[in-house]
Amino acid sequence: MPSDPVDPAAPVLVINAGSSSLKYQLVRADTGQSLATGLIERIGLDDGSARHTVDGTDHVTEQEVRDHAAAFELLTVQFAEHGPDLRETAPGAVGHRVVHGGAKFASTVRIDDEVLETLRRLVPLAPLHNPGNIAGIEVALETFPDLPQVAVFDTAFHQTMPAAAFTYAVPLAWRQTLNIRRYGFHGTSHAYVSRRTAELLGRPLEETNVVVLHLGNGASSCAVEGGRSVDTSMGLTPLEGLVMGTRPGDLDPGLPAHLSRVSGLTLPEFDHALNKESGLKGLAGDSDFRAIEQRRADGDEEATLAFDVVVQQLVRHLGSSALVLGRLDAVAFTAGIGENSTELRAAVLQRAGLLGIELDADANATARGETRISTTDSAVAAFVVPTNEEWEIAREAMQLLAHS
Ligand code: ADP
Repeated sequence: MPSDPVDPAAPVLVINAGSSSLKYQLVRADTGQSLATGLIERIGLDDGSARHTVDGTDHVTEQEVRDHAAAFELLTVQFAEHGPDLRETAPGAVGHRVVHGGAKFASTVRIDDEVLETLRRLVPLAPLHNPGNIAGIEVALETFPDLPQVAVFDTAFHQTMPAAAFTYAVPLAWRQTLNIRRYGFHGTSHAYVSRRTAELLGRPLEETNVVVLHLGNGASSCAVEGGRSVDTSMGLTPLEGLVMGTRPGDLDPGLPAHLSRVSGLTLPEFDHALNKESGLKGLAGDSDFRAIEQRRADGDEEATLAFDVVVQQLVRHLGSSALVLGRLDAVAFTAGIGENSTELRAAVLQRAGLLGIELDADANATARGETRISTTDSAVAAFVVPTNEEWEIAREAMQLLAHS
């Protein structure tokens, strides 16, 4: 492959393609400046919609988007009509978010036929996510044939976990021949937030131990030692660990056999219930944390229990992550719930005194953007750090190209 000189100030077109949606952002890897963002939804249905945002102005279109090829066609039309002009801004790369890289991809890779073939072989590991990612890559290769294309994996950051952390205590044959192990997800977010946290603390990343709590619709914790993931709450799939919008987090592994015996539940039904009907939705009928908080404030019992179960699970994982690290410098909250829910952060940190964290209630209540929410006397710091996965993907892509 020709290695053209890389302009570090060139923006990267970051693509997050799902089975029925395409999110994109044109972002500068060096500064994180976002030049445009967009979201194309309901791909494959007849009531598709597209939003392209430049300079704070939303441009919305409603039209059928047949497939991923049509979505990329629409993306180029949006840039042509509303800017910025893709020829003038001259992106240096296309960076694709890929959910599962298995044990095969421990870092960001430049996409070629062999990489694409390996990604197709990894589909059984992430049947809900990887097919959409792959469809996005295939069309992007045709749409932007002259740009280097790079895959950045949610799992890659966790490939530094020691065997003791990623090994499940299951039969050898499953582990050896079926690659059954913990992989972990949200890696780009955990990498970005742990690095920013070290910067906010004013400590070298290599000497900083952080627990990152990424709390969105999907949620995971990560114990980061000197910038390297050493343990994480998600496992083979993104179902394990913390309570999420529609996923339960940790469960008794005896549950599928029990339910099959007592109610005849089939595996596909069980799989559906755990991916779509559990978590906050299972606890209180609504996967949206804001709605849960509102109902809890109004005295709703189901919502109060849901909040308490979320907190209990977070406290468990925070405690075990701190012990895994041995020494803790900071805890960082990120993603939709972590960045916005004052009450959740307070409920977790009020129970983290044993770790040496003293909550600054005022700072927590007024936190906007990057904020320290522990007192100045607190032995261990706590922060809100808004995640920026697109910038991290752009950085990863340009770093790889600069060194290849
Ligand atoms: P995703 O995993 O889909 O990227 P997000 O990181 O956007 O998810 O997080 C979505 C979650 O954040 C939802 O449960 C939403 O209710 C919650 N959330 C967003 N804003 C607030 C807020 N102001 N207070 C509490 N929760 C919030």
